[in-house]
Amino acid sequence: MSQIFCPRLLTLDTQLTLSPLFRSRQEKRFPIPSPKKPKISLYTYRDIFNREFNLSFGLPRTDMCARCEALDMALMCCGGEDEMNRLLEERRRHQENGENGYESKRRDKKLTQQSWNGKTRTLRENSTSKDVIDMITFDFQQNLPTPHLHHNDMFCLRQLWTFNFGIHDCINEQGYMFLWSETTAKRGSSEVASCLHKFFSKFRSGARLVVCCCSLFNQKKTR
Ligand SMILES: [Zn+2]
Repeated sequence: MSQIFCPRLLTLDTQLTLSPLFRSRQEKRFPIPSPKKPKISLYTYRDIFNREFNLSFGLPRTDMCARCEALDMALMCCGGEDEMNRLLEERRRHQENGENGYESKRRDKKLTQQSWNGKTRTLRENSTSKDVIDMITFDFQQNLPTPHLHHNDMFCLRQLWTFNFGIHDCINEQGYMFLWSETTAKRGSSEVASCLHKFFSKFRSGARLVVCCCSLFNQKKTR
């Protein structure tokens, strides 16, 4: 989950899950005196946890790009007020550009989905309508260290990176994943082109297409 979309989300320990929290409550380790503690089921506990607390498990993730981080660091050690104002203005313009990109994506998605209203869409043959527009977004998921283990030895061992490239069909809200490890290929522009080529060999609606890569709003990694 991105903190851009959930700015006040708090995260709990990566090793923690809801069941141990629930058990600790049942086992009277919870700091409320037991006579006042109503008995509830795991189902109710989970429901209250999800609805009333802005908490999540795992590492806090941000979509901060390298430029944002460089500007934040420059702000932390800048010399005078003039330089600080210049950096703040640069960061404001940079983030405004990023937000404009996300807004444009939301608008495109709405329009492209509307273009298919009342029309049949099959991905194996060309559509007869000239008005329809498809839209896909694509990006890499965070690299996955493999195997997914947490014991002490893992701190010192070099783990295998597994890459996951996802393409999302915004009309059907359907995801397509391409998974490989670093022993198979890297995660550069050639690999992105190969995944897209394979995807388009099956994905043939014949409509005009809007393509959007989310990381390009703030980054230039795969350009
Ligand atoms: Zn940025």
